[in-house]
Amino acid sequence: MQADRRGALAVIGGGPAGLMAAEVASAAGASVDVYDAMPSAGRKFLMAGKGGLNLTHSEPLQDFLARYGARQAWLTPLIWGFAPDALRAWARGLGVETFVGSSGRVFPAQMKAAPLLRAWLHRLRAAGVRFHMRHRWCGWQEDGALCFATPQGERAVRTDAAVLALGGGSWARLGSDGAWVPLLAARGVRVAPLRPANCGFDVAWSAHFRERYAGRPVKTVVLAHRASDGAESHQQGEFLVTASGVEGGVIYTLSARLRDEIEATGSALLQLDLAPDRDRARLIESLSQARGANSMANHLRRRAGIDGVKAGLLRELLPPLDFADPVCLATAIKALPLRLVAPRPLDEAISSAGGVAFEALDEHLMIRDLPGVFCAGEMLDWEAPTGGYLLTACFASGRAAGAGAVHWLQQLARVASGATRPPR
Ligand SMILES: Cc1cc2nc3c(=O)[nH]c(=O)nc-3n(C[C@H](O)[C@H](O)[C@H](O)COP(=O)(O)OP(=O)(O)OC[C@H]3O[C@@H](n4cnc5c(N)ncnc54)[C@H](O)[C@@H]3O)c2cc1C
Repeated sequence: MQADRRGALAVIGGGPAGLMAAEVASAAGASVDVYDAMPSAGRKFLMAGKGGLNLTHSEPLQDFLARYGARQAWLTPLIWGFAPDALRAWARGLGVETFVGSSGRVFPAQMKAAPLLRAWLHRLRAAGVRFHMRHRWCGWQEDGALCFATPQGERAVRTDAAVLALGGGSWARLGSDGAWVPLLAARGVRVAPLRPANCGFDVAWSAHFRERYAGRPVKTVVLAHRASDGAESHQQGEFLVTASGVEGGVIYTLSARLRDEIEATGSALLQLDLAPDRDRARLIESLSQARGANSMANHLRRRAGIDGVKAGLLRELLPPLDFADPVCLATAIKALPLRLVAPRPLDEAISSAGGVAFEALDEHLMIRDLPGVFCAGEMLDWEAPTGGYLLTACFASGRAAGAGAVHWLQQLARVASGATRPPR
């Protein structure tokens, strides 16, 4: 296959991370080509905008950085380079104003991703960035050229540098399918297996409960989880009962530790406080009052404010005899045990954990063993809860990789001019 040379920098992956790398490199004067397997760029970004695009978060930067857990030290310099305020200013530069919601999360005024993506792609094209859609990257030729599968057949492209921004492994139909993992692993790059993050979980619901309650939201509960090391976490919010288990905001927040516990022990136990506004003593007192001719459903509703899906959960998870004992019943309302047996598959998750290990990269996000090849975005080995932390880290790492590629290209140019020795 003949390799054609299409500019100095190839950015592979036209999601938020890749587009940001392209923008930075192009602004620095590099000749940039973006390749993507899909017919159009930013499909997952557009999907993220469906339920309200949460771009970033307004909390203090120290709290923000702590959301990256074990990878905080790696993400910190990247996010300092493009902190939430800078991200909001960047969006404003594209004509998209943002606002801080009541939860502190930051959204575009129109809540959607499409206007921002449209303006961004327009600006990139105007700056000279070339886009090559339906180009699936398949690895390297023996001579180092990048290989792409295209509708017109295979194509090889030789470049001076490449930024890989191929995403994680969830929602494969939007483009990021994790097929890059074996390609990098075959080149000796350390890649942690992709795992579901911000995901739902399976629960062994009875057929009756599933039929009756699948699709129902469980509003305002507190979920408690105690990890095997004794560390406790309490989260207030709501979740959704699904046919296979549970999903939604408060579940996603706890999902990393729940997934890890299931991997280690086979299951994870949550405790649900179904009545966060009432204390146990008050519940015991009200539930001890004579039921008279009232049904148990009425008694629960009138005395404990529990009905609908919350009452269904009690029926599902509590032995029938416990309903007759106000102490047992009140205790269950405040700490109902719910056993999760498996995370939902990676493809259904909001994001992926795992990916290219930071240890395999230098400070410019260049793969140490593949000089001139940089990585950015969700394909790196970090994870974070929802709340705008995902996109912020993708944008920030995209900028860092784009700047790293520019630095690399400048070094190559200096070598070519005889001003310095080859890099590395
Ligand atoms: C339903 C949903 C809602 C979300 N909501 C939010 C939110 O509100 N806030 C937030 O912060 N995050 C949100 N996210 C997560 C966020 O969208 C992702 O973290 C982000 O898009 C990842 O950016 P990325 O550029 O790393 O990868 P992606 O956006 O996945 O882009 C990767 C690109 O690489 C391309 N590609 C992959 N493999 C190849 C290949 N071999 N050859 C060529 N091209 C390839 C893909 O086609 C794709 O265009 C949401 C995700 C989902 C699924």
